[in-house]
Amino acid sequence: MDDIVQGAGLRADPAAKGDSDMAPIRKIGIIGAGQMGSGIAHVVALSGYDVVLHDLAKERVDAALSTIDKNLARQVASGKISDEERRKTISRISYAETLAGLGDADLVIEAATEDETVKRKIFVALCPVIKPDAIVATNTSSISITRLAASTDRPEHFIGLHFMNPAPVMELVEMIRGIATEDVTFGRTREFVETLGKTVAVSEDFPAFMVNRILLPMINEAVYTLYEGVGSVDAIDTAMRLGAHHPMGPLQLADFIGLDTCLSIMQVLYEGLADSKYRPCPLLVKYVEAGWLGRKTKRGFYDYRGEKPMPTR
Ligand code: NAD
Repeated sequence: MDDIVQGAGLRADPAAKGDSDMAPIRKIGIIGAGQMGSGIAHVVALSGYDVVLHDLAKERVDAALSTIDKNLARQVASGKISDEERRKTISRISYAETLAGLGDADLVIEAATEDETVKRKIFVALCPVIKPDAIVATNTSSISITRLAASTDRPEHFIGLHFMNPAPVMELVEMIRGIATEDVTFGRTREFVETLGKTVAVSEDFPAFMVNRILLPMINEAVYTLYEGVGSVDAIDTAMRLGAHHPMGPLQLADFIGLDTCLSIMQVLYEGLADSKYRPCPLLVKYVEAGWLGRKTKRGFYDYRGEKPMPTR
């Protein structure tokens, strides 16, 4: 989130959107205030929606609010938004200590850790305390939407809404229907995404959808390339930056995504498609076991504790 340079939403009138039979989407609940939850809160609040943010601990939400404010200030400095918009955006985001605080949300976006058990538990606890017609979306990178929907009381109002990282900068949102997702849910959610100024790409509900089905095997292969000693961290990233014109090297990108998230996605691909070509690299597993999860823990394929990132291999 340190490199936000672009403006985010259209800042549309949120109340003007939505299906005529249903309440307009005005208030958004977000579960998880990590990299993605904070980025989504930034985009959504900047577009004029009220946001309620929940995480396991208040400190996580406080940290998210300070990151959002810092990134908004950067947008002010580059002339993308005014200082008044920055202040209004921050004032639209409130903290919910419990899931019950999301009770009046029209749409809840779950952006908690990429772990199916964690997400299922959240949905089981969430459904009884939110409005019966609230739409529930998940920002999962890889897990089956149909399976997650089955842990809710509203599979017809459940949908995959996969924002990219960093959410305020990246233009795309993948949308994924579960088997039971109703057209009206898809339509209302798509309208909402478009008011954020994002472009939608629709994916079928298969492991890791489209972007990560293609991206993560490349990252995993980069880790194998390191593991087999074909090149160093620096050589692999330089090769892909200058040789394939990727804006970030694959190992730098893995650190940016979070190595735990990368490993979870590879496991979902490996198990979900039952093909050995998706086997997570043992070196990726080792980094995760060490708690070296990338930028968010200050160490991964690079060490971020000093002035400039230093390769760890
Ligand atoms: P993260 O580790 O930065 O944040 C996860 C947050 O979820 C943490 O703050 C954690 O405290 C919170 N959390 C865990 N269990 C919770 C619970 N029971 N209730 C409330 N909060 C809980 O992870 P992230 O990178 O923000 O990823 C979040 C989701 O977004 C994952 O599903 C991930 O696959 C997806 N995603 C990640 C990226 C990426 O590049 N990192 C991109 C797109 C989508």
